[in-house]
Amino acid sequence: MRILLFPLFLLLTYSTTLFAQTLPAQTDPRIYDIIKAVSAERLEADINTLVNFGTRHTFSDTVSDVRGIGAARRWILAEFQKIGAKSESDFEVFYNKIHVKPEDGSRIPFETDIVSVVAIQRGTVRPNKYIIMSGDIDSRVSDSNNFMDDSPGANDNASGMAGTIEAARVLSKYQFPTSIIYAGLAGEEQGLFGGKGLAEYAKEQGWDIVGVLNNDMIGNISGVDGVIDNRTFRIFSEPTPVTESEQARRVRRFYGGEVDGVSRQLARYVHKTTQAYMPEMNPMMIYRLDRFGRGGHHRPFNDAGFAGIRIMEAHENYDMQHQDLRTEEGITYGDTIDGVNFDYAAKLTAVNAISLAAIAWAPEAPKNIGIGGAVRPSTTLVWDEPMDANIVGYKLYWRDTTSPQWQYSKYVGKVNRAILEGIVIDNFLFGVASISASGHESLIQFPGRVVNR
Ligand SMILES: [Zn+2]
Repeated sequence: MRILLFPLFLLLTYSTTLFAQTLPAQTDPRIYDIIKAVSAERLEADINTLVNFGTRHTFSDTVSDVRGIGAARRWILAEFQKIGAKSESDFEVFYNKIHVKPEDGSRIPFETDIVSVVAIQRGTVRPNKYIIMSGDIDSRVSDSNNFMDDSPGANDNASGMAGTIEAARVLSKYQFPTSIIYAGLAGEEQGLFGGKGLAEYAKEQGWDIVGVLNNDMIGNISGVDGVIDNRTFRIFSEPTPVTESEQARRVRRFYGGEVDGVSRQLARYVHKTTQAYMPEMNPMMIYRLDRFGRGGHHRPFNDAGFAGIRIMEAHENYDMQHQDLRTEEGITYGDTIDGVNFDYAAKLTAVNAISLAAIAWAPEAPKNIGIGGAVRPSTTLVWDEPMDANIVGYKLYWRDTTSPQWQYSKYVGKVNRAILEGIVIDNFLFGVASISASGHESLIQFPGRVVNR
């Protein structure tokens, strides 16, 4: 009997597969190629190059070719130009400047231009739609305004900067319908100025930004807490946009969405993509803007109303951040290159690269999601179909109100309305995503209005 049952089970599995044929594929083999293409050796070489500029302090030398922030940004620009020259995609590489003046209590000792480096890999279908990856150019030691002493900034944040350059190298081999931006943001340590400058520029230019994946310290695996861990990393996201209206806040009180803002959905997307393609990694959803009382370059984008998250190591080493290079009572301080694990930095770079690729290959998201179902044993979702010939259908997602991740889903085909029978609206949170023929999914969209039926 046992022998008979086994083939029967196989047969059933096989026939289920046949019936499931109309569903789009769940994985894209190109994503595995992207993971493999990220090179720990190239990351090591680039982090070394950045460290060897001596200091990348915002107020350090801008004229020298070998030392200071000027040499560093020119090298980053040249790297992006080299990548662009070899790419099938159109690349535009430019500086983005913001002028700052001293103010009381600020970390700006004198007037200067803070200069970020931006590379755009232009999308073939939606050139004005962008997904952004960023790292920081600048570094600091104990005194935030000490621009003379050596400040290697190997992990903070040559690791994030090198990761951004490496992601550009790997993804430049492909073409995407949506544009990808690789940004080296400057002036982070002086007050998040580079991000502010680029967010302002994005607003002026009317960029349609899906979100920002900001990478700040992606190379340390040996924590000051004693834990050594090369698998876990953190994804920080704010719960809801700070730019939302009073009306949106009021509506949320009655219909929900306290933990479902656009940045949180982006964080969930990165988490899900990592689990699907890099199951050896342990992504941690951190339900807060950033570390306790501390800052990063995704925040100025959040301040401007854009989705943005911070990706970083799980275990920090404070002896190796913002420290003068010194030895005291047997402890060596300073952000030197021996604190960077290049294989781990490569893993986190791959997390970014596959998230960028999945989002840039994804179809347009459904718009204007409505939901209804009060006092009925079913939940109704409605949405506007975006103009995108690549969409083969939509997927409804839902989860328990206490669950950090979407738990349940149902593919409903190419419709603009669906009813989930037997699902009581009170007990779950809901969203809708669009699906393309190659199986890529848009970010899940949370409902913003209530419908009666
Ligand atoms: Zn820092």
